[in-house]
Amino acid sequence: MKNVELGTPLSPSAMRVLLLGAGELGKEVAIELQRLGVEVVAVDRYANAPAMQVAHRSHVVDMLDPVALRAVIDLERPHIVVPEVEAIATAVLAQVEATGVRVVPTARATQLTMNREGIRRLAAEELDIPTSPYRFVDTEAELAAAAEALGFPCVVKPVMSSSGHGQSVLRSADRVAQVWSYAQEGGRAGAGRCIVEGFVRFDSEITLLTVRHAGGTTFLDPVGHVQVDGDYRESWQPAALSAVALATAQEVARRVTDALGGWGLFGVELFILGDSVLFSEVSPRPHDTGMVTMVSQDLSEFALHARAVLGLPVGDVLRLGGTAEPAAASCAVLAEGQGVPRFGGVDAALSVPTAQVRLFGKPLVAGHRRVAVALARGADVDEARARAGAAAAALVVSLD
Ligand code: AMP
Repeated sequence: MKNVELGTPLSPSAMRVLLLGAGELGKEVAIELQRLGVEVVAVDRYANAPAMQVAHRSHVVDMLDPVALRAVIDLERPHIVVPEVEAIATAVLAQVEATGVRVVPTARATQLTMNREGIRRLAAEELDIPTSPYRFVDTEAELAAAAEALGFPCVVKPVMSSSGHGQSVLRSADRVAQVWSYAQEGGRAGAGRCIVEGFVRFDSEITLLTVRHAGGTTFLDPVGHVQVDGDYRESWQPAALSAVALATAQEVARRVTDALGGWGLFGVELFILGDSVLFSEVSPRPHDTGMVTMVSQDLSEFALHARAVLGLPVGDVLRLGGTAEPAAASCAVLAEGQGVPRFGGVDAALSVPTAQVRLFGKPLVAGHRRVAVALARGADVDEARARAGAAAAALVVSLD
């Protein structure tokens, strides 16, 4: 075994990690890295982002601006760069990787996954993995033609977007103009190309959290989830899957993550239809639906990501709750409006058996934003979901 050495933060021996993206997922990664004595520097486009509140230092930088991104990397001289969002000038990551800085999982993986086109073409066209039928379109006329070819309903998503921004279901030809203009407003980094996908009537959708680490590849129990408007609302673990579907899901996840390479935790999003599995997309980093692992496992997806990126062993992941409460769930708490969140009913939320909450500390809500998550375990998935839902409902968010 290789000898992994970790120094002392804020000293010459420090292991320095630069987190690109300082939201609620980055915050948990920062905490796990801090536990291992890593010096953590958090970067995001706005001040006081959640992970900045627990990092050693932080910088407010437009990460899509290659000059600004390069400047912060040159200033901080990290040993490892850990992207926690997709919207990054990934060409800079390739440059710094070439100078010996480790980019998680690899600069190429961040390039392929920042755009829905890169990862879809890799999975469907190079690896021959089953996906929904799809077409890429650049104009409203091309969208109309693609919808006719794929059939209605179909799903339209900007190739550069996440959390459902600009995404909608196109149900009939007379809605093409409306769906096109919505996609053009919602896409990240300006308007542009969209993917049009045939609508999949899946039985369920799962995230297969997959860890590539120094000792190989480890699959976590599948996470089931519910999305509304392309945004996650509830997740649970373990998701019920046939043995055949589970084996196929693991095979798909292994092939996709092997093609991306590097060390780290990946969230492989899959649609399940009976024993069949369709690949949807992959995050080369902890996944929002995986927040459930903070109550389901001794090592959460964030702890596993921290271990993997540092080249540490992952070992056997222990499921918490024993035989009495083997299932776990998460329920997102959303706020809508304008202002600084305040949370009432925290005591009521934590009176729900096994419940925990994470209040992200987001400094401002403008529009629609996830501000907290409730977590719970139960005798089965139904009980865990009911408890997490009750804890989330007990939290009363107001905006100052
Ligand atoms: P995505 O941003 O691609 O993960 O999409 C968000 C959510 O929209 C997914 O988790 C699904 O619930 C739904 N969705 C996306 N693509 C399709 C599809 N082709 N057919 C049916 N539902 C979809």
